[in-house]
Amino acid sequence: MKRIYTADSIAMAWHMRNVLEQHDIYAQVKNEGLSSIAGETPITEILPEVWVKPLYAKRAEQIVKEIINSEELENESWICKSCGEDSLGIFDICWNCQTADN
Ligand SMILES: [Zn+2]
Repeated sequence: MKRIYTADSIAMAWHMRNVLEQHDIYAQVKNEGLSSIAGETPITEILPEVWVKPLYAKRAEQIVKEIINSEELENESWICKSCGEDSLGIFDICWNCQTADN
């Protein structure tokens, strides 16, 4: 597996993963849920990362770049009414349980 993206938030990492899967690229999110040890670990080591098979790395990096370039990132977040997780304003569905924001 090869790391192709380091996200600022778990929501962003999952967004990338979902988009990659829409392109038939299987992606894995690493370092999620490690914030409990944040006090002992440098912050750069606990940011969520998106990993893909080396075979898909080039294409995945390109897709991630396009997502970053094309989307207006809004800082505003919303709380999923189904599972209570925070999602960023740019997402129409919850990254965690795929419930629509409405
Ligand atoms: Zn949810």
